[in-house]
Amino acid sequence: MDFNAFGFDEGLLEGILSSGYKTPTPIQEQVIPLIMQGKDLIASAQTGTGKTAAFLLPLIHLLISNKQDKHISGLIIVPTRELAIQIAQHMEGLSYFTDVSFISIYGGGDGNAFVEEKRALINGVDLIICTPGKMISHLNMGYVKLQHLKYLVLDEADRMLDMGFYDDIMKIITATSPARQSLLFSATMPDRIRMLARKILREPAEINIALSKPAEKITQQAYVVYEPQKQGLIFHLLKQFQFRSVIVFCSRKQVVKQLTRDLKKAGFKADEMHSDLEQAQREDVMTQFKARTLPVLIATDIVSRGIDIEDIDLVINYDVPHDGEDYVHRIGRTARASASGMAITLISDSEQGRFGKIESLIQYEVQKMPIPESLGAGPEYAPHRKRSSGSKPHSGKKPPFKRNPNKKGPSHPKNPAPKSS
Ligand code: AMP
Repeated sequence: MDFNAFGFDEGLLEGILSSGYKTPTPIQEQVIPLIMQGKDLIASAQTGTGKTAAFLLPLIHLLISNKQDKHISGLIIVPTRELAIQIAQHMEGLSYFTDVSFISIYGGGDGNAFVEEKRALINGVDLIICTPGKMISHLNMGYVKLQHLKYLVLDEADRMLDMGFYDDIMKIITATSPARQSLLFSATMPDRIRMLARKILREPAEINIALSKPAEKITQQAYVVYEPQKQGLIFHLLKQFQFRSVIVFCSRKQVVKQLTRDLKKAGFKADEMHSDLEQAQREDVMTQFKARTLPVLIATDIVSRGIDIEDIDLVINYDVPHDGEDYVHRIGRTARASASGMAITLISDSEQGRFGKIESLIQYEVQKMPIPESLGAGPEYAPHRKRSSGSKPHSGKKPPFKRNPNKKGPSHPKNPAPKSS
């Protein structure tokens, strides 16, 4: 199958070509015809499957075919600004040769951004990509008119509910036209997502692309260690392999900050990413990381769903993520679309049970690697054993954003201005 089979607008096909997509991914093959037919949809799909383009491509085609002047036609609600930025970047590339206008609206911008957003919301824009909180701020001011909305997308709905956005989402949806077409994407399908789906979708088609399993191209390994051995192991791993692009995930920002300090002190070119940073600082770090001038990024899960960088060689889980979905999202940062990649998890004694559960969820036993001798002996891997709290190392060693034809090509704006024809 190729993209010509969907009956897409010519300009859209050009955007697909210039984005380098040759054939649709499985989720795109299944989801695109349903959206083009006007069906509501509930889809579970993991990141890295091409799910963003699966809704953006038909949406762009429908926005071109059913153009409304001076109204907001489409709304994509996402949990984080990182994801909003990422979707806006995809949108910029895919819609580049069309006259579809869009704007992304998320927190952390300055007064100018707010004024620009307000202008776009009052004058109408084909598509808005937003986080719930910031959209509510505009809705509360009374100038946002969503009654002509035709297309609504909730992306990473499970994550939005986890973050406590249910009321905000429902408030936004209540302001829209009931005649809209609604699409709900979620990595997991707990009961509360099904309940949300019953409230906002009409006779939806249901697509399950995959169990939450990591892409097969990711080589997964784990080291079973005592907590104090982790830092030495990170140093060892980063020294041993010549990686160009590594993300080290830590569950807590304190750990991110400490590890970044330690790595910098040891001479590694590393920087940190977490919610305590200002938006400008985050963008600066991400720009350096994408440009490969920063090889090592230490981050909380803020990055696990929201970034799209090709060619990340290695993902290290400094600690075991809280659940299987977080694990899949973290390691899904490597081996994007076509590349292969590697994911290494450090499992401390107290995290073994959690990792055992993750292995059950992904139905895959991750290869356990021997720890370097210099770090001393590690614990045995026995995830189902009952443990007492506070186990210690047993070796004596110290564990140590319209189309302007003059534009050169799709750009990657911070907060794209609405495009005009
Ligand atoms: P996603 O699952 O939406 O996060 O997409 C993962 C990656 O796949 C992104 O880098 C997309 O640009 C890329 N991608 C999406 N669709 C295709 C396709 N049909 N062919 C090649 N790459 C794609």
